[in-house]
Amino acid sequence: MPTLLPNHLGGQWVTGSGAGTPLFDPVLGTELVRVSSAGLDLAAGFRFAREQGGSALRALSYGQRAGLLGAIGKVLQAHRDAYYEIATANSGTTARDSAVDIDGGIFTLGYYAKQGEALGEARVLLDGERIRMGKDPAFQTQHILQPTQGLALFINAFNFPSWGLWEKAAPALLSGVPVIVKPATATAWLTQRMVQDVVDAGILPPGALSVVCGSSAGLMDQLQPFDVVSFTGSAETARLIRSHPAVAERSVRCNIEADSLNAALLDPDATADSEAFNLLVNEVVREMTVKSGQKCTAIRRVFVPRALYDAAAQAIAAKLARTTVGNPRSEAVRMGSLVSTEQKANVLEGIARLRAEAEVLFDGSGQPLVDADAATSACVAPTLLGSRAPAQARLLHEVEVFGPVATLMAYDGLAQAVELIRRGEGSLVCSLYSANPAFIAEAALALGSAHGRVHAISPDVAASQTGHGNVMPMSLHGGPGRAGGGEELGGLRALGFYHRRSAVQAGVDALDALAASAVALKL
Ligand code: NAP
Repeated sequence: MPTLLPNHLGGQWVTGSGAGTPLFDPVLGTELVRVSSAGLDLAAGFRFAREQGGSALRALSYGQRAGLLGAIGKVLQAHRDAYYEIATANSGTTARDSAVDIDGGIFTLGYYAKQGEALGEARVLLDGERIRMGKDPAFQTQHILQPTQGLALFINAFNFPSWGLWEKAAPALLSGVPVIVKPATATAWLTQRMVQDVVDAGILPPGALSVVCGSSAGLMDQLQPFDVVSFTGSAETARLIRSHPAVAERSVRCNIEADSLNAALLDPDATADSEAFNLLVNEVVREMTVKSGQKCTAIRRVFVPRALYDAAAQAIAAKLARTTVGNPRSEAVRMGSLVSTEQKANVLEGIARLRAEAEVLFDGSGQPLVDADAATSACVAPTLLGSRAPAQARLLHEVEVFGPVATLMAYDGLAQAVELIRRGEGSLVCSLYSANPAFIAEAALALGSAHGRVHAISPDVAASQTGHGNVMPMSLHGGPGRAGGGEELGGLRALGFYHRRSAVQAGVDALDALAASAVALKL
């Protein structure tokens, strides 16, 4: 009988009741472990986190909490090999792709440990300067930020079981807010193991970090007005979260990171032999194949000037043809599998839908898988679709296929490209490929308000650019509209979600006294 992974709630390890839900190896099809949240005393567990975990964390300064983040990073480093094994088995990823999740999470913790250290012994953040309330300077207003006296519930997606936890937990714990994470069931094992290692290391006060694996039933019902919920996942589940009474009636603060039709845009003046063209081709292939395209930030739509449509199709297809797909344990494999056979079915169905509006420019499914069974594994080969008339298309701008799939589109002039990109109705990231700084500036301003991030790749930054789909902790992550309307990371901006802002209107002596335990938040 496979192990039933214990949950950590109420400061204790507790297994759910019943047989549990099995987690599988998506390449071999074998059962790995089980999870269950049935029968947990959620009310008591949430209360424990809020009261015990929250007050212990708030008793510390920002600098002390930053120290905790550094210590968590060290524990995770020490167990890194085990995490890679779990990722290979449960997510079907190659070591290179597991690194994006595992090392990406550790890097983000390290970044916030450093940022937090600079806040020192303060317990309150000053938001901006004091402002006079009238002619007499004696009476002024000072905005302050204090950690919310509640907990943070994270409901996460299956594609980043490590990074998805730590990119949220780092700013929450630094803020002094306890965390309860509910990982997506399909890949919950890695999240559970990381929490187990950190809890067992005794770094955090009891109640500061909890994990509930399995069904989400009842979690949202526990939330109280000063709690926050941060959700990453599909637009459909996001709708349920937003309309839950905790959010709709109790004003629980809610951050949503949902799906997105991210775009790449090649300069209209580029030529097929330009460096900008090559940079676009390389980045598109990388985005389609890293983590088998299961990144919320992956490029889904590729816009090239009409004259370069055929050349771009050929160049991208030639590189995709060299992508070996199969068992991530094999040295020869560059791209592993999707996380589950359900996802494989979703991706194949998504490709079929897009094909109603697109031609197939490359279909890797004819090539044999390496050391994997096409019938039973969740491996899916890369597919490049194309449209010479994207203005007439609807689904191509609407349907996110969460796999190694992108659509090449021909455009006529920058104004049309911008209009077509904006049909995504708000995305996480758009990348630009050009050697011309004036074009990059113009396009960035035209597209910025519809994206959380604009990533410009020019020949001078070819070696130093951080990647279209890589989420770096110093930059904002999130996007307007369809992308969920959320904001995460962006350096210390992330602390805002876990703090409450208030204006203190008082005499300057009182404001001086208040400032003694505070530090100015410099963004
Ligand atoms: P999902 O099906 O919406 O699931 C997300 C999470 O919500 C899981 O933990 C799931 O638990 C939980 N959940 C399901 N029903 C719920 C309910 N009624 N109440 C509360 N929680 C519930 O999404 P997914 O399939 O895991 O993730 C893929 C999607 O996430 C893609 O569309 C992708 O674009 C998006 N994504 C966005 C970002 C971003 O940062 N913007 C990052 C990664 C992924 P179970 O697993 O137990 O069902």
